[in-house]
Amino acid sequence: MKLLKKKDFLVFLETLAKKNDFYAPTSKKEFGRIRKVDDICFDYTKTEMPAKSIFFPREEIMMRFSEKKIRIVKPRLKRKTIIFGLRSCDLVAIEIMDRIFENDLWYKARRKNAILIGMACNKTDDSCFCASFGINPRNGDADLWVINEGESFFLQPKTSVGRKLVNKLLKNIPNTRKKPKKRRLKFKKKVLFNKKELQKLKELNFDNWKECLACGSCTTICPTCHCFDVVDVVEQDLKRGVRKRVWASCMERDFSRIAGDLILRNKRTDRLRQFVLDKFIYFEHHYGHMGCVGCGRCIETCPVGIDIRKILSK
Ligand code: SF4
Ligand code: SF4
Repeated sequence: MKLLKKKDFLVFLETLAKKNDFYAPTSKKEFGRIRKVDDICFDYTKTEMPAKSIFFPREEIMMRFSEKKIRIVKPRLKRKTIIFGLRSCDLVAIEIMDRIFENDLWYKARRKNAILIGMACNKTDDSCFCASFGINPRNGDADLWVINEGESFFLQPKTSVGRKLVNKLLKNIPNTRKKPKKRRLKFKKKVLFNKKELQKLKELNFDNWKECLACGSCTTICPTCHCFDVVDVVEQDLKRGVRKRVWASCMERDFSRIAGDLILRNKRTDRLRQFVLDKFIYFEHHYGHMGCVGCGRCIETCPVGIDIRKILSK
């Protein structure tokens, strides 16, 4: 483990930002491309938007086609991607997305090209409940783990990629024997999960949450929501076109439209039910992990104050 003064840590980040496609929180809102370290925001618990669009863009061209041929459009990755400032919940969400997209050419290419630098939380928001999933906000699975002590930063490589990065750029800095301060973070609310009890969510009357607007903000902002639609956009001459994928949301009415123009989840509360059951029952079945990491983003963004923890406690 290395211990760097803040100014040296910023030089380290600056070097990374010069040589790579470097992303970090630019404000409390999101992860953005960083060219100057002054643009990095250190004062956040979690960003409003997760980092998911770096691997899974809101809209992307998958292929181009013409009368004669089809060409797969692969992501153009000239430099390494480095994401700094991921929280433990963000890292678990990326692990889940890795399972979901394990056979996806576009996601995999971006993900394989990326180095993840996580940073320990020093405080929680009222909406945070990652500990309910056994996630430790002070210790996450990144290539390099950073603990912010204000005027100094501990750097702990956790993978060979992280070790390489540190050995290359910080070889003159000796390892430290000092340990980061122990902090116990408080969570306003915890959810106690019992897998059998969770099955009861299927019987829950979601009409109790009629106020849901089905606006889709929760799915947009959720780090594990990954549904997309595939659209063909054809040129006016009808000879060429592109196939795109764009984010979709189970909160949209048309999401469950099937042949015969039948809409399976016509009611907004049926769509909310789908969102909740998917996160807490179906995900586990398909990917071996619940689809929620307790980041609390959906709680903060919901315009009518729907709190997923309250649904789970019913
Ligand atoms: S739960 Fe809230 S954020 Fe999600 S769709 Fe309903 S109103 Fe929108
Ligand atoms: S469901 Fe809500 S709390 Fe859970 S991961 Fe998604 S945004 Fe975060």
